[in-house]
Amino acid sequence: MRRAFIRIYRSYCMQLRPNLINNYSSEQRLSTSTSSMNMNLQECVNRLNKLASPSLAESWDNVGLLVEPTPPHTVSTLFMTNDLTEDVLEEAILRKSSMILSYHPPIFGALKRLTMASFKERIIVKAIENRIAVYSPHTAYDVVKDGLTDWLAAAPGSGDIEVFTATAKSREHCAAEDNHVDVRELDSSVAVKLKQDLASKCNIQTVQLYNQAATKQKPTSELLSMSFACQSASLASVVDVISQYNASKTTQITQLEKAAIPGAGMGRINTLHANRSTHDIINSTKKHLGVDFLSVAYGRGKNSESMVKKVAVCAGSGSSVLMSAPADLYITGEMSHHDILEINSQGISVILSNHSNSERAYLKILKKKLEMILEGKVDIIISKVDSDPLVTV
Ligand SMILES: [Zn+2]
Repeated sequence: MRRAFIRIYRSYCMQLRPNLINNYSSEQRLSTSTSSMNMNLQECVNRLNKLASPSLAESWDNVGLLVEPTPPHTVSTLFMTNDLTEDVLEEAILRKSSMILSYHPPIFGALKRLTMASFKERIIVKAIENRIAVYSPHTAYDVVKDGLTDWLAAAPGSGDIEVFTATAKSREHCAAEDNHVDVRELDSSVAVKLKQDLASKCNIQTVQLYNQAATKQKPTSELLSMSFACQSASLASVVDVISQYNASKTTQITQLEKAAIPGAGMGRINTLHANRSTHDIINSTKKHLGVDFLSVAYGRGKNSESMVKKVAVCAGSGSSVLMSAPADLYITGEMSHHDILEINSQGISVILSNHSNSERAYLKILKKKLEMILEGKVDIIISKVDSDPLVTV
């Protein structure tokens, strides 16, 4: 989620980690990309996009291929990380990576210059200098069915998992035309002329003409109706042309709604197969996320023994998605103090893991998926340096 995403970068302490190099054996440090395995960058990107189209991402997000070295560029080592910090980039360079998949996009707001002044700029410059492509899936992989949020929703235990906030089909997934126009009761000669005008003046090339039911005044053969689809941007000129034929009264325009994509959306609700105590859910969530600590804020009148039936989850910063979720317990990465108070006042408990801890362990699941879709032609590694900037001390 954007709010928290920005916060992470603002609060990130750019401390150098002198032990970075020591995370690797001398063999790993010296290893070069001698593997014969590789894949053309564009082919690799096409396959990553197929896992979850960038068009599924939230409108505020910045996903897909963000840094592209001059072609030809082949990918032999794909390096995965949740956040692309300077330390993580050093690690990627050390591992001879030709492409980085950074779950959070390292380019988010517009960059007006590429200097050494800020860490975001330095990262992009260094990636380009080292001919490393950068790809970010972020909310596209969050929302997609069987993506990160479905994985997170399994943390509290087995249950029926449903989408909480559905993702609507974007234009890539449905017809580009979003209006359906019906014009009825036209004389056949008028219908033919109108069809020609729609083609020449409005670029409406596909118009269906069909016989209108007969009336007492007109035999069937003299009446035609027409229907066609058109984009909202063309609607004004279409109405203008139709009105020139005095056909407005017999015209019906239907705006087509974007249909929800089954199984895709920003949050999930897990209705557990058997009620579990909050304490048990905390333990299974720690195990699922691979963390030793979580923060919990108990809902009014609730404690660790309180039984839970429904759990709502959202990766990252979940307030905006979860606020009205009908559940006994919310699980997300981070929330503001005041949002927690509001939710707790409704008797709903909240478990927080810190932002990226709600996401990072999914990289192992994603790695297996990528090995499948890249057919083992690319060596895939997960960062050892990448971690949440907040630690419990
Ligand atoms: Zn996030």
